Amino acid sequence: MANDRTVLCLACETCKNKNYHIVRGKKKEYKVAVKKFCKNCGKRTPHKETKSS
Ligand SMILES: [Zn+2]
Repeated sequence: MANDRTVLCLACETCKNKNYHIVRGKKKEYKVAVKKFCKNCGKRTPHKETKSS
């Protein structure tokens, strides 16, 4: 079965910690910053999609 999904990380923009994993179809390769809680920073910070391998 072909793997048509890609796993992405949501990394904190402040400390670059990869806090969340998301799975997404390959078609949508846009980057988006979302506000998420970062336990490393102890507050909500912008998180950006980065590739996870
Ligand atoms: Zn952080």
